[in-house]
Amino acid sequence: MRKGAIVGISDTTSFELIQIISQDFNTSLNLHEVLGKVLQRMVNTTKAVQASLFLLDREGVTTHHFLVRPNQPPESFSDTGQLLHPDGVAVWVYKNQQGVLVADTETDQRWTRFADAGPNIRSVISVPLPYRERVNGVLLLYHDQANFFTKRHLTLATSIAGQAAVSIENARLFTHIKGEQESLVALSQGVPLPIIVIVEGKIVFYNKAAERDLMIKRTGVPLAHIEGGVDLETALTELQETNQHSLDVTWPDGRIFHVSMNEVQPYGTVLSLDDVTYLKKLSEMKSQFVETVSHDLKNPLSMIKGFARMLHYENLSDQGRINLEHIAQSVDHMEALVNNLLDLAQIEAGMGGATEHCNLVDITKGVLEDYVLRFEKKGLQLHSDLPTSVPRVSANPVRLREVVVNLVSNAIKYTPENGEIFVTIKQTDTEVLFKVTDTGRGIPPASHPQLFEKFYRVPITDASQWVEGTGLGLSIVKAIVEEYGGRVWVESELGVGSTFGCTFPIV
Ligand code: ADP
Repeated sequence: MRKGAIVGISDTTSFELIQIISQDFNTSLNLHEVLGKVLQRMVNTTKAVQASLFLLDREGVTTHHFLVRPNQPPESFSDTGQLLHPDGVAVWVYKNQQGVLVADTETDQRWTRFADAGPNIRSVISVPLPYRERVNGVLLLYHDQANFFTKRHLTLATSIAGQAAVSIENARLFTHIKGEQESLVALSQGVPLPIIVIVEGKIVFYNKAAERDLMIKRTGVPLAHIEGGVDLETALTELQETNQHSLDVTWPDGRIFHVSMNEVQPYGTVLSLDDVTYLKKLSEMKSQFVETVSHDLKNPLSMIKGFARMLHYENLSDQGRINLEHIAQSVDHMEALVNNLLDLAQIEAGMGGATEHCNLVDITKGVLEDYVLRFEKKGLQLHSDLPTSVPRVSANPVRLREVVVNLVSNAIKYTPENGEIFVTIKQTDTEVLFKVTDTGRGIPPASHPQLFEKFYRVPITDASQWVEGTGLGLSIVKAIVEEYGGRVWVESELGVGSTFGCTFPIV
């Protein structure tokens, strides 16, 4: 009998082993379990006295070491951080990316010491686990008998190592993706706002806040079946049809959610719901308060104004006339304030007046004509770029005029003498765009977020900058524009100038 024939491995045995091992790799993603099993099969088939597998990271450091001996359960050591023995055969295999057969460790001169083999080992096979031009592991088979392993063993081990390399990379990829998925789920679970993901009308994901606030109990349920789901579906359809991303939805129990929708391809529709009930209540209370106070102020103000006018005809001293002038000015200011407050309360209450198809160009021309004297008085140059015709805007003409008046009069107020003002109207596919640009004092970036808030005025650093105003003009502009489905914004640089723009949907 030829040396090694007792344990010689036939083509059939090799083929069967490769098939079985390939099944092992395909049936489980638990890498540790599979590799242990594969090594055990190799030990049993080849009759090796030991099989070792070192998994290596990109730097060649051992991340796992599997060890199998006949009739013993596989042992595995994780994160050893160990380097392969520098003089060992495994390092040679790792560096040269090719397998090697050591027929007899005592006569083979290539490695002075078989440090990674142990004293009784006489025959060794070592093969790399190659993956995309690098080696992600080294497999070793040992025997205590010299000349035990043959080239056939080497071929078999090389083939199995190839399969193992691919499986290891797949498992690494899988663990990585799973880890990312788990952290994403953990993140969305931790978000305090309810989040729901919808696919084909059914809930496929919800977070803890959604479970707590919307009483969602399980996935797979049609959105319409949860409480408030029908309203939510109607809102979604509206958002899709109007190409918008968010709107307020009133829940059956009276809560108001600000719902934001995002289509995340290919996963589904992601909804986040922000409970804004208290904000709405607060805003309602504020509007009611403002309305009541304004009405109650309007009457006494008219009286003061009337009496002041009568005093005008009295025989007053020079100082008396100056004082009367101050009273008249202050009353005018208070009247403007009260009128603005009333306007705002009405617009916010949805009582902005009947809408019609308005011509924004004509309205703007009218306002600019009214302001000719004010432009001249400050030596301001007006550049207007108004098209001959633009599509109509659905709005109340008085309110629309208010928008133009507020933006143009602000530009005049906040631009020093001899400055320039540009008024532009443009049309896009879906909107009419109105813009007023000035070369005025500009607005510091820190003030931009609050500009459209009621009563907000940009703080001034020196008294000479003081300009009469109520801090309500821009909030009125915003309320009107939004009432008609448009947007309003500001771009401004301190000391350079400002542009206020707004859009209105085309009828
Ligand atoms: P008001 O002008 O009555 O104070 P607004 O609501 O119209 O109130 O404007 C709010 C604030 O925004 C103003 O007080 C001013 O500080 C700033 N502002 C508005 N328009 C301009 C502009 N064109 N240039 C510089 N600052 C502006």
